[in-house]
Amino acid sequence: MPAVDLHLHTTASDGRLTPTQLVDLLAQRGVEYAAITDHDSTEGMAEALEAARRHPTLRLIPGIELSADHQDTEVHVLGYFLNWRDQRLQSQLQEFRRGRVDRARTMVDKLADLGLPIDWPRVQAIAGEGAVGRPHIALAMVEKGYVKEVREAFDKYLGRSGPAYAERQKLKPVDAVALIRKAGGAAVLAHPTWVNNVEARIEEMLPAGLAGMEVYYGVYSPETMSRLASIAQKYGLIACGGSDYHALGNPDEALPGYQGPPESAVDALKARASPTDAQIRGRL
Ligand code: AMP
Ligand code: ZN
Ligand code: FE
Ligand code: FE
Repeated sequence: MPAVDLHLHTTASDGRLTPTQLVDLLAQRGVEYAAITDHDSTEGMAEALEAARRHPTLRLIPGIELSADHQDTEVHVLGYFLNWRDQRLQSQLQEFRRGRVDRARTMVDKLADLGLPIDWPRVQAIAGEGAVGRPHIALAMVEKGYVKEVREAFDKYLGRSGPAYAERQKLKPVDAVALIRKAGGAAVLAHPTWVNNVEARIEEMLPAGLAGMEVYYGVYSPETMSRLASIAQKYGLIACGGSDYHALGNPDEALPGYQGPPESAVDALKARASPTDAQIRGRL
């Protein structure tokens, strides 16, 4: 069975490998179908597609990961085979990225109030050109010696109920699905175990055009995956997944190609997407 990994991050958001480094690692690890799904950004896509030309066995699928909220729960929505050059999509993404900067600054202020000052320019430097996210703040905290690793920063400070957490502009899950659909993409619910009342959220998102949900994710156990597979089947959703690799240095991080759906998921997603030109499909 070919190795498929449909959830990956690069320096275009909070991953630590450049698109080229990630593509080379994917090829080295024998991954045959991969989707780069940066948070609120497709800025890594052109470089990744160019790098993939050197690896005839690797096919890249254009992707995105949007962050939405429902009450007390974060709902991440992945998009595949989307027309990533779509102007409307790009201006929305730019707005989301601007919101990320304001929110990150608020979190840095909260950390200072907690007696854990970090320099905003340092966070900016770690994020580079990428969409700034909590992992960049976490890395700055590791550098300062406030925490041993990124995971600890989330557990103690940056998690949703942590003392330094700040909200960002709210995007509803149905609106995230609609945005992906308008750009011709297939929308997929990410890491469903992080979502409270997941079946209620699925029932809301289905009429907006939700096509799939992640089942084969990161370090999910076989029991979790089989429970999620039943939910996917119940709602007629394509069972998707991937490693969610960030190269953040967490000890138990799933490597690219460690987890992913069968190749049939790629065909099913492609059938649910409606891109407008062959180029945006990557090399499929
Ligand atoms: P943000 O986009 O700023 O809300 O940050 C969300 C990202 O933080 C996720 O996509 C993960 O990369 C990372 N993340 C979330 N929770 C954790 C955690 N407990 N440990 C490590 N990284 C996490
Ligand atoms: Zn991330
Ligand atoms: Fe996510
Ligand atoms: Fe992710």
